[in-house]
Amino acid sequence: MSVFWTPPWRKLFRTKAIPIIVVQNYKFLELGGEPVYLLHRRQAGDLYEDEVTSFDLDPVAGMYYFVLWQPSENEEKFPDPRSVKIWVNEQPWNAAYAPDIFKPNAQEFSLWIRKNAVDQNTQAELPDEVRVYFNPLFTGVGTVRYSFTTICKCIDLSSMQPTRANCPLCQLSTFGWEQYLNPNRHIRDQMMPHTFLLAWPATDTNLVLDNQGFVRESKVTHWTSPPPFSPYVFEHDVIVRMNDIRYEVINKADRRFPDILVQQEFDVVEVEKDHPVYNVPVTRN
Ligand SMILES: [Zn+2]
Repeated sequence: MSVFWTPPWRKLFRTKAIPIIVVQNYKFLELGGEPVYLLHRRQAGDLYEDEVTSFDLDPVAGMYYFVLWQPSENEEKFPDPRSVKIWVNEQPWNAAYAPDIFKPNAQEFSLWIRKNAVDQNTQAELPDEVRVYFNPLFTGVGTVRYSFTTICKCIDLSSMQPTRANCPLCQLSTFGWEQYLNPNRHIRDQMMPHTFLLAWPATDTNLVLDNQGFVRESKVTHWTSPPPFSPYVFEHDVIVRMNDIRYEVINKADRRFPDILVQQEFDVVEVEKDHPVYNVPVTRN
């Protein structure tokens, strides 16, 4: 008998510890899922949390907003746009790319960022400012809680690269990435330990369990099972395919039954090839 022998009752206990609905959903995933790697965005920088109860109405856009950051508050540090989280009356709202693409009746906010801008007429420098705009659903009444982590002001927001050579602040608080490794040794032994299975919308077999536990066909989004089979995926994490094409996670949503996390759904957008995340090495096994 090998020293790695496990008593059957312990195996049974381990299997039973995972809710059956989670296991069933994983079985669906095994039919059409593709093994991928994941890079978790590591939150670096200082964390800022506060709340606001009074809002300004933008007369042109017809939307309420509040000022998230002004240089007077934190001269050298700037909110990392990808880290901003908003709760309206304790309800989490989702981030949209821009106020003009708000979905009707969706609980969405968007950032308005002015950085290194000059006045068109006078060529005078305009003060940097970051605002949070709300979907017109928001009536300007309530308590809004927010949090964000800071990055150095020298970071170029489109490439997320430092623009100052050897910037001391960037070296102190660089944002980074951590590759996912399944923490469950039992599951690690069965599959490639750095991978998890992801269903893409184009796969033939894309059956999932809905909120009521019924089998349905998924057409819209990418989905994966919850831990322990998959990582808990966060907005803006990066999915790496076997061919090294990298994708950013957006519009993340969790499906629960009744309160057990049974499925994680999200959209992906392909990352530009010159993005720094392409320089992050990936362990392939
Ligand atoms: Zn810097």
